[in-house]
Amino acid sequence: MTAVTDLDAALPGTPTTWTGRGFSTRAVHAGSEPDPATGAVVTPIYQTSTYKQDGVGGLRTGLGPGYEYSRSANPTRTGLQECLAALESPADAPATAFAFASGLAAEDTLLRSVLGPGGHLVLGDDAYGGSYRLIARVAGPWGVTHDAVPMADPDAVRAVLRPGTTRLLWVETPTNPLLGIADVAVLADLAHEAGALLVVDNTFATPYLQTPLALGADVVVHSTTKYCGGHSDVVGGALVVSATASAPWLDGVGGLGASVAERVGFHQNAMGAVAGPFDAWLVQRGLKTLGVRMDRHCDNAERVVAYLADHPRVRSVLYPGLPDHPGHQVAARQMRRFGGMVSFRLAGGVEDALTVCKRTEVFTLAESLGGVESLVEHPGRMTHASVAGSALEVPDDLVRLSVGIEDAEDLLADLERALS
Ligand SMILES: *Cc1c(COP(=O)(O)O)cnc(C)c1O
Repeated sequence: MTAVTDLDAALPGTPTTWTGRGFSTRAVHAGSEPDPATGAVVTPIYQTSTYKQDGVGGLRTGLGPGYEYSRSANPTRTGLQECLAALESPADAPATAFAFASGLAAEDTLLRSVLGPGGHLVLGDDAYGGSYRLIARVAGPWGVTHDAVPMADPDAVRAVLRPGTTRLLWVETPTNPLLGIADVAVLADLAHEAGALLVVDNTFATPYLQTPLALGADVVVHSTTKYCGGHSDVVGGALVVSATASAPWLDGVGGLGASVAERVGFHQNAMGAVAGPFDAWLVQRGLKTLGVRMDRHCDNAERVVAYLADHPRVRSVLYPGLPDHPGHQVAARQMRRFGGMVSFRLAGGVEDALTVCKRTEVFTLAESLGGVESLVEHPGRMTHASVAGSALEVPDDLVRLSVGIEDAEDLLADLERALS
């Protein structure tokens, strides 16, 4: 075996050796092959903008395809992208992942990769407020129209799809902050019948709990800021694109073909909203523990739900794991467990909701979610203030919890105090 072959065998990017292994094995190892130059077990933070060429065009191929400039590609980002692809890909259909500077940067890149003026998009009527704002107020003036409908109701979706004009069906499940559930397989069929692509924002579920590409989705979106990073110390985003996703209406536009993966790859470089090396490294470190963290998030959320469901000051608890949740059957079919996000409505209205947010000590009052620490927030006045007055407005007696991995007893005691 020559030295070159040795290097090749160690490359991130060489065959999906981790395909077919369990989730956490892939999370720990995919995209984390020991560094070929030093043997470093953890992918280094390649904090460099450029790369020496051995003669004009002589890129060094010791770490994959050859690097020339870090907007185009950086080995630390490559490692993260390979890990994300290994976690979201169906076993028999390798997908391609792209890492961005934020979830919204990922979404923007996707919108510009597959839509053009005159295109139509359908999204959920309780979509993440920032996604809605991007679609309505940035893509809107560019000539993209949209309809917001309840994704849990396939007939409502069918009614607004315009075959030949609708390009994207944009789904979150579970939704933020109302924890609604949509049937990914059913929506994939509806989208494809209309000639559109199905995009699933998998931020809440993560690939540990749900893999939309295996259910027929074309593209998965992540805010890796949340559970993927998992420690509230990085802002990032990702797209994972199925190998078969195609946008025939754009074939030839921009000198590109119809392949969505090709178009997104081009736009990632051409628009440049990439994840920096340190941010990519933090997200990949987070992914390695995603499975154990998600199990603990789910355990704790189940305890919190059981406590809140019996509390006299609580009007209702929104959690897809509850048998009376309207999406429970669908969630049980397409998710491994029901996640760490819990929302609830207060019998005493907005005043009680604000009081709970003020009184907790272990749950920190803050936006964002998915970190190891528990957070509490009032969506109506915080994360979703930008959709007040629109179809996406959320009730003002609603409190959202991101249940962390602390000891469940301390979380319950904290809620007890806040609700007393
Ligand atoms: C936070 C979030 C986003 C946006 O991601 P950023 O990293 O904040 O840009 C998109 N979708 C969902 C469901 C989110 O929670």
